[in-house]
Amino acid sequence: MTHFKILSLALATALLLHACGSHKSETTMTKAIDPTNMDLNTRAGDNFFEYVNGSWIKNNPIPAEYSQYGAFTVIYEDNQEQLKSLVAEVSAATDAKAGSVNQQIRDFYNSGMDSVQIESLGTDAIKPQMDAITNLSNHREVQAYVAEMHKHSVYPLFYLFSSADQKNSSMEIANLYQGGLGLPDVAYYLNEDEQSIKLRIAYTDHIRKMFVLIGVEESIANEKANTVLAMETALAKRSKSRLERRDPNGNYNRMPLSELQELSPEFDWQLYFETVGLPEPGEINVSQTDFIASISDMMTTYDVEAWKTYLSWNMLDASANYLNDAIVEQNFDFFSRTLSGKEEMQPRWKRVLGTTSRGLGEALGQLYVEKHFPQESKDRMLVLVENLRLAFADRISKLDWMTDETKEKALEKLNRITVKVGYPDKWKDYSRLQIVPGNYLQNVLAANRFSFEEDLAKVGKEVDETEWGMTPQTVNAYYNPTNNEIVFPAGILQPPFFNRDADDAVNYGSIGVVIGHEMTHGFDDKGRQYDKDGNLNDWWTDEDAERFAEKTAKLVEQYNNYSILDSLHVDGQLTLGENIADLGGINIAFDAMLRSFDGKTPEDIDGFSAEQRFFLGYAQIWRQNIRDKELARRLKEDVHSPGDARVNVPPFNVDAFIAAFHISPEDKLYIPKEKRAYIW
Ligand SMILES: [Zn+2]
Repeated sequence: MTHFKILSLALATALLLHACGSHKSETTMTKAIDPTNMDLNTRAGDNFFEYVNGSWIKNNPIPAEYSQYGAFTVIYEDNQEQLKSLVAEVSAATDAKAGSVNQQIRDFYNSGMDSVQIESLGTDAIKPQMDAITNLSNHREVQAYVAEMHKHSVYPLFYLFSSADQKNSSMEIANLYQGGLGLPDVAYYLNEDEQSIKLRIAYTDHIRKMFVLIGVEESIANEKANTVLAMETALAKRSKSRLERRDPNGNYNRMPLSELQELSPEFDWQLYFETVGLPEPGEINVSQTDFIASISDMMTTYDVEAWKTYLSWNMLDASANYLNDAIVEQNFDFFSRTLSGKEEMQPRWKRVLGTTSRGLGEALGQLYVEKHFPQESKDRMLVLVENLRLAFADRISKLDWMTDETKEKALEKLNRITVKVGYPDKWKDYSRLQIVPGNYLQNVLAANRFSFEEDLAKVGKEVDETEWGMTPQTVNAYYNPTNNEIVFPAGILQPPFFNRDADDAVNYGSIGVVIGHEMTHGFDDKGRQYDKDGNLNDWWTDEDAERFAEKTAKLVEQYNNYSILDSLHVDGQLTLGENIADLGGINIAFDAMLRSFDGKTPEDIDGFSAEQRFFLGYAQIWRQNIRDKELARRLKEDVHSPGDARVNVPPFNVDAFIAAFHISPEDKLYIPKEKRAYIW
């Protein structure tokens, strides 16, 4: 679904697919490694994921409201409870000043919880927009209305957002990016396998039902659904695949407005930019040129009636979660039940809290860190990061496959990586955002509009390096190549990722690997194309680039051969950047751990050595149960490998792991030395 895309993160690399939010009670002691979560009957070398997580997996079936359930979800759940009580506190105070953050949080949340009001408004909530679309009378008005929708972060056809200029990374530039699809990926429209064909039929049926729910007659709704599918398929055909979009140079096509107008002549780009409030956009990065050209072609192919259908579908789809129950239920039925295998909707409070947490992310985040994030965690993280940096530098210096020339540049880049931990030093100012009691959808659109305007205001200005691409309550982390920075929100800094009560080995295996993972993103197949200043600028000798490609090809093959559901495989090429980061993260964190021992050997705990506990700590952060439908969906859409592959592949390339668990050629996951990938 296209609501609330985190556009500022479009170019950054996250630790996992879904940004969700959270924090465990500071008084509970969490056992670093609990052997009762393991399955000691499985051999570590046959299935390391099962060996470490087998009993946990048996004892933690997926709740009906989730499509997957794992370490991340457990923290997320805790976090929801904490945010809920923060919102309750804020809402109980009757003296919140109009325009204050407390008033905004209170009225936003309460408007979403007021199911009586939402039901009684029904589809009238969306009527002003639907009427405006009905009244469009020519292609020019259609184009202006596309801009009007974009202003509310509803995105027919394409995205517009500001980001650092990839080749002049201290400056912000406007970007056009392919979009306009209701299904989550281009592949859904183009694949001809039975499953994809079935999904397209289900999607068309969903569109038809949604139109009927807003009062369109059945036969007309049917026609409209077919029109939407045809138009989206036309867009998909001219879109780049997920894999193609991983090439940052391919996505960099900077041009003045006049050139854009020539590229895509039947769309009035000047009118568009004027309507969104950016009459002089400067040079624009057209991320996918053929796609943007196709919009012009489609203006000729489709008449105004077809465009009105397409725009009204986009509006309805983007609003669905904030309308009356019948529409919310239908939306859930397709996107969550059919696509992801979820059985039940989350209770209203969780859904509304999630929306509040996106719309007023840093406002809520500020309350959250004040109450739940100890300064001590930040201090300890900063020390860990520097230990990892030293270990990584040492590894780079000793690489046997890289020339000194490239090594020197790699070290410079490593030393320039900046670190953000917990929460931003400077909070977002929400004072211009108007949240009113009572109208949920209008509040969501107001928050959308606020975030769009805030984003667009950056175009042409210097990059604000204090800005965050995730909220503090998020359970995730990221590397941003244009800032050359690694970022760890407060949400992820809790067990099992970061455990203040754990021995060092376990922390190095979990949060240590997460830090190393994000650092390695600066040096994966994509990140390595950016230099120390965050510019797309090749700093590698040809010889080194060639050796890097040979080494990473081994990893591609290993993942391509890792089968999951009967016929489904991981896409080794699509997931390459993440897999390089996982492997690099393990190597760097393991070295950092050894350095921290300073020659002393820690005592065994529960019969496991420190070396073993490092890998147990790593494996347990990826424990999860996942539904078949969700897994199939992610194998298509996600640049991250599934949890079991993240545990069952990278360690088998690491000699220290082979030694720690006495892995031998008889073990199923054993990789012979000549086939192991030694990269970072
Ligand atoms: Zn990553």
